[in-house]
Amino acid sequence: MVIKSRWSYQTPRVSLPTFIFDSPTAELPTTPAFISAREPDKHFLSLRDYRLWAQRIASGLRRSGLQPGDRVLLYSGNTLFFPCVIMGVIMAGGIFTGANPTYVARELAYQLQDSGARYLICAEGSLDTGLEAAKTVGLSADNIFIFDDGVATFEGKTVEKDSPLGKIWHWTTLVDSAEAGQAFQWEDLKTDEELNRVIALNYSSGTTGVAKGVMISHSNYVANCSQQIFISAQHPNYAAQRAKQRMLCFLPMYHAMAQAIFCMNSVKQRVPVYMMAKFDFLEMLQCVQRFRITDLVLVPPVIVAMAKHPATRKFDLSSVERVGSGAAPLGREVCAELEKLWPDGSVNVKQGWGMTEATCAVTTFHPAALSLSFSVGELAPNCEAKIVVDEEGLVEAPQGERGEIWVKGPNVMRGYWKKPEATKETITADGWLRTGDVAYVDQEKNFFIVDRKKELIKVKGLQVAPAELEALLLDHPDVQDAAVIGVTLDGEEYPRAYIVPQTPEKATPEVAENIKKWLAERVSKAKRLEGGVRFIDAIPKNPSGKIMRREIREKAKLEDTKA
Ligand code: AMP
Repeated sequence: MVIKSRWSYQTPRVSLPTFIFDSPTAELPTTPAFISAREPDKHFLSLRDYRLWAQRIASGLRRSGLQPGDRVLLYSGNTLFFPCVIMGVIMAGGIFTGANPTYVARELAYQLQDSGARYLICAEGSLDTGLEAAKTVGLSADNIFIFDDGVATFEGKTVEKDSPLGKIWHWTTLVDSAEAGQAFQWEDLKTDEELNRVIALNYSSGTTGVAKGVMISHSNYVANCSQQIFISAQHPNYAAQRAKQRMLCFLPMYHAMAQAIFCMNSVKQRVPVYMMAKFDFLEMLQCVQRFRITDLVLVPPVIVAMAKHPATRKFDLSSVERVGSGAAPLGREVCAELEKLWPDGSVNVKQGWGMTEATCAVTTFHPAALSLSFSVGELAPNCEAKIVVDEEGLVEAPQGERGEIWVKGPNVMRGYWKKPEATKETITADGWLRTGDVAYVDQEKNFFIVDRKKELIKVKGLQVAPAELEALLLDHPDVQDAAVIGVTLDGEEYPRAYIVPQTPEKATPEVAENIKKWLAERVSKAKRLEGGVRFIDAIPKNPSGKIMRREIREKAKLEDTKA
């Protein structure tokens, strides 16, 4: 049985900039929309500033030669100008792609190459890595720009640097004057163009293989944003609630979740966002207390830390009214533990489930509903789902039983960038997105995510693709073959490698340690083999050479639970 959301409506047929800002000249609020958590009185942007900066960037990008569909890669932690760059690229007719700011040069080079980025805007502190990656892919210094943490931009400083590739200019050299910005009109889309015009590539490995550019259209973002607003508006006191909401963003904005929630949904609802450059546990608690944050969007490791860390009790968190969690599984016990921080029972932790391939969220909770289980809620408006037990999706699981969850909806991606085969494997001819997640549905149409069928490993909410690590491990001189799976240690998922050594004598703890260290030098932190290294005689594979991960996962369950 296909399960349909109980809500349906026509997704607005407009471009994303029109959805967020109405028009290039419409009256917009001048109250702070994005506020620096470090310098809240000095550094902030209103919704009107957000639009103007985006227009100035769009105008500057066009002047510097950006052609429709050109990709612009931003490699940086969060700054107040991060959303302006996203929107500026989109207004200019380009395609935005954000890279994880902890990437090493090899990882960044992969995304530069795969997306075919024409411009790289790179955080000042990561310039060496950015230049190394740019050199690998042959990107010229003229197309690389230094992004600052916002302070230099606010203070009108432009810092340029000499580098082995040539002079690297500050990103504001790409930004046109306020007058030019005000005059900049983003393109009016023709019928159906908003459905198909790709505006972002958000990287995800999906159900198999290495990271791929998830093509997100104007309509995808508009649909996601309007779904969230529609749900919030179900609150009986929506207007009053909205007027006092304040959010805190420390989730990385290169990822779909922070992009959709903080760069689009919050501003559209006129909810101010206090922005942290990156996550820091104590600083986060201080910010909640200082800015009287009402809405927390968290990921499971942060919920666990808040529930368990004694420091949490030292802060006044009484302003918090809502806590949401997503990106990885979370047990009900931890949620209940966290809820004890508000002894009047006023806060109920609610989970959402989604994926980059569905723009952001697929499930949600009615604002008046209470979550008393590990359910991720019901389907967001205009979404459909089915739980299937065969590869073709023809056999559905009986009600209440588990299977792979397939979804349809206006938020489902246009496909993978330049990867028609992977797209075909992920989206069926009749539009179902195979999620690779295993779920069941109760009689009230609440969804429960119970397992993952796909290869993907999630470390602290971040994606780790086993295929990438396996390819790297094969370059190690002592490795003949390798398979990587996720193992759960102390409630957290980590990558573990199963290695066939070049010769049996190499199967020693020293070689295992060496492999672990060797890999750590080549990948960002989340991808390190914190789940350990194990030796194995042969990697189980099917006749077509595909790694039989389920067999390895079963084996891992029988082994010790140490790294
Ligand atoms: P990403 O594309 O990085 O957002 O990762 C999406 C994947 O994260 C999903 O396909 C799930 O495997 C996992 N995920 C996201 N939210 C949840 C959740 N609430 N419970 C369990 N797994 C989740």
